[in-house]
Amino acid sequence: MENRLRFYNTLNRKVETFVPNEEGKVAMYTCGPTVYHFAHIGNLRSYIEEDVLEKALRYVGYDVKRVMNITDVGHLSSDADTGEDKMLKGAKREHKTVMEIAGFYTDAFFSDCAKLNIKTPDVVEPATNCIQEFIHMVEALLEKGYAYLAGGNVYFDTSKLEDYYVFSSQSEKELLVGVRDDVEEDANKKNRNDFVLWFTKSKFEDQALKWESPWGVGYPGWHIECSCISMKHLGEYMDIHCGGVDNIFPHHTNEIAQSEAYLGHKWCNYWFHVHHLTDKTGKMSKSKGEFLTLSLLESKGYDPRVYRFFCLQSHYRKPLEFSYETLDNTVAAYEKLVKRIGSLKMEEVHSEENRGNVVDREKFAAYKQKFQEALCDDLNTSMALTVLYDMLKEDMADATKYALAEDFDRVLSLDLVTAHAEMEAGKKVDGDMERYILEKIEERKAAKKEKDFARADEIRAELLEKGILLEDTREGVKWKRV
Ligand code: AMP
Ligand code: ZN
Repeated sequence: MENRLRFYNTLNRKVETFVPNEEGKVAMYTCGPTVYHFAHIGNLRSYIEEDVLEKALRYVGYDVKRVMNITDVGHLSSDADTGEDKMLKGAKREHKTVMEIAGFYTDAFFSDCAKLNIKTPDVVEPATNCIQEFIHMVEALLEKGYAYLAGGNVYFDTSKLEDYYVFSSQSEKELLVGVRDDVEEDANKKNRNDFVLWFTKSKFEDQALKWESPWGVGYPGWHIECSCISMKHLGEYMDIHCGGVDNIFPHHTNEIAQSEAYLGHKWCNYWFHVHHLTDKTGKMSKSKGEFLTLSLLESKGYDPRVYRFFCLQSHYRKPLEFSYETLDNTVAAYEKLVKRIGSLKMEEVHSEENRGNVVDREKFAAYKQKFQEALCDDLNTSMALTVLYDMLKEDMADATKYALAEDFDRVLSLDLVTAHAEMEAGKKVDGDMERYILEKIEERKAAKKEKDFARADEIRAELLEKGILLEDTREGVKWKRV
């Protein structure tokens, strides 16, 4: 393959050239959401970047099979084996059953993904579909001597491994990125980092979902699901495993421990991790500060694609701080960009016959190469966007620019060639609505003249509720759809 993708492999702590196990094919796994609540825009940052990775792989010619789990059981509120089950917590909060909660938030997650133009993975598997596979793996680990029973639970014995901390030669402390410090010690564990493969007796008496197992009625630990689900669909060898950086330890560390103990050989060659979206106070979470969801951004008038653009402007390996101010700048940049593409001469672009003749094949290939190079350089999306801007500035036929924008959008997924027309259509209002808006503008003018500023503000708010934004400019009051 001509263009080899290079990206940072957390396993070897360096940027590496990607070489799959099987030429031309990629087996890729993504840790899916825990469906006890809406995803926050931090979670969605991870899924956007992973989507870019998948599309970049496809762009350079690989055939990708991507699998994602849905965590609908076993993820506790602490990253250690303590705390409450997140799903149960969600069910209690909303007075629903765990499965109702799982169904609702799974749908909400994929609806967010669709708005962000994130492709649905080829296989999506809820953990509760695979209980027998989990039990089988736990049995095998017990047989091989990598697991033990204590206090009714089955634990993985980390002391049986030569190298448990595969991701870091550094201290354990450094690995505890996302782990809370109020972790209670479990007296059943032989070693501090041993983790539960199967719970039976535990303090979670009210656990809603339980299954028969050779060790009694219970439920699986969180980590086992990703090992089993990935092997079920991708086999014993995997190319790329993705997640946010908080997954490095303990989740991914434990996945590797149990998978390689089970298989008896190396499991996954490349580990791709996305850094966190933060706010001014630090890491974003669902329990502190404003719960930033995509729907919240939409309710404030932001187009979800603007959030995708916001993420693509920075590098996946750097923390990204969210602020409305930066997002506002991104709105302006996005609108300008799609307007620029929307203004390309359509008569040249839309005639297929013309397109074939007018597209400058040499320039097309040169820019495509530059775009590809940016992606291959550790997924440098901001550089890829620079290539897009540069090519729009270049002196060449509009049809070539249009064809390139369309081609780049296979990875960027910003609706580069359709968004402008769509926005324009959305801005149009029918005659009645227009009359109503103009009447309200007059009414507001009169209120201001009377110094009734409260009424003037009220009118502005009334219109905003209907999706109409008033702007006081030097040339008078203007309105636009938002
Ligand atoms: P969860 O639903 O908690 O299992 O998380 C879903 C995904 O979001 C995982 O890959 C996490 O590593 C990732 N994630 C969690 N918090 C953030 C954040 N603030 N920024 C980016 N990714 C995150
Ligand atoms: Zn996982």
